[in-house]
Amino acid sequence: MRIECIAIGTELLTTRRLDTNSVWIAERLSELGLDLSMKTAVGDDREILARVFREAMGRSDLILTTGGLGPTFDDFTKEVCAEVLGVPLVEDPRCRADIQAFYDARKRVPPPANFKQAAIPEGAEALRNPVGTAPGVYWQNPPGHPGMRILMFPGVPREMKRMWTDHALPRLRTLAGRPVHTLRMVVAGVPESTLDQRIQEVRERHGHLDWTILASLTQVELLARGEDPAALERACADFTPLLGEDLACTGTGNLEDAVLDLLKARGESLAVAESMTGGLLAARLTAIPGASQAFLGGATVYSMGAKVALLGLDPERLAVEGTVSEATSRRLAEAVRAKLGATWGLAVTGNAGPGAEGDAPLGTVFLAVAGPKGTVSRGLTLPGDRADVQLRATAGALDLLRRGINLDRKY
Ligand code: AMP
Ligand code: MG
Repeated sequence: MRIECIAIGTELLTTRRLDTNSVWIAERLSELGLDLSMKTAVGDDREILARVFREAMGRSDLILTTGGLGPTFDDFTKEVCAEVLGVPLVEDPRCRADIQAFYDARKRVPPPANFKQAAIPEGAEALRNPVGTAPGVYWQNPPGHPGMRILMFPGVPREMKRMWTDHALPRLRTLAGRPVHTLRMVVAGVPESTLDQRIQEVRERHGHLDWTILASLTQVELLARGEDPAALERACADFTPLLGEDLACTGTGNLEDAVLDLLKARGESLAVAESMTGGLLAARLTAIPGASQAFLGGATVYSMGAKVALLGLDPERLAVEGTVSEATSRRLAEAVRAKLGATWGLAVTGNAGPGAEGDAPLGTVFLAVAGPKGTVSRGLTLPGDRADVQLRATAGALDLLRRGINLDRKY
């Protein structure tokens, strides 16, 4: 079965808005064991949209569209689709009543143009929208295309998602292939190419699974998809010893989840001192619900003065050792650990650019972890622009801490 997605809206062709709907839909389809064959983003242009519809109807069995169902002049997805199929739009009284009720509930009078949304292609089914005014459309066996299905959703992601659950899911379940399961392994501190080499043999041994390696600035994800959960479990059992300490976690979490989970499991706490990352490390940790069970807080000590005033570093020694130095990162980690009474203190100093700072070239980073058994530190040179270096530095810091905690467990 061929499935395609058409994202409609001129803004999707610019940097103003990303087409996140198709990505989300592709994920939901894959949970049903269905794959997207292609996706198109098209502007609010009747002629081009008509052409896209015509082509899609010629090659796909299921067409999913998002956007262009609203009341404004640039919303005409239903009109164009109906035109291509030579069918008129007819008003659905229930949709009209829904729109009226939506405005009544807000004690407002609907602008007349709003009722345009209640018009549905003749022969298609209107899908009620419980969170907005634009109904969706489900069209099975449209004229001249027996066996074809067209599903139209509003563009607003929140409405689209709700309508997927309410309307699309029950209608698509019968088409679903066998559900596909995913094994996700998050690896930290290893470059993608090194990892690729290291896992090649074991990956080939599990070659009946569908493998993907996804590298980001902060971690590498190793994904296997397959229909048999037992086969995924066997792969996981083989990969766990192979990846060893480099495996941060499996499942849906990321490096920061792995660190917080480790801390929580041990009843330990963390404080951070950040210079060059300016709070990014704390932000990544606090983005996770429940972080407060392990993360105490920290200090953004960007300037030399802040390092002295907030964390009590000695200004003379700081001047000698330099703000971007291994010695300073160790002192920051120890100081923030002591100030907040945390089990672990984690510090990041460095130069994120754009130019060299003192004699520290762009990308120079020093990380330190202060813990119950002493302090470890590490110097790195990270590639990329300012934002890249900052993000990579947070990953380096989290990974150093993660490994430090794991080592401690072995004593
Ligand atoms: P529309 O249904 O075309 O009026 O779109 C309503 C809102 O949803 C607009 O703010 C769009 O920018 C947004 N939107 C439309 N399509 C998408 C998409 N594919 N991904 C994310 N947002 C979208
Ligand atoms: Mg639009």
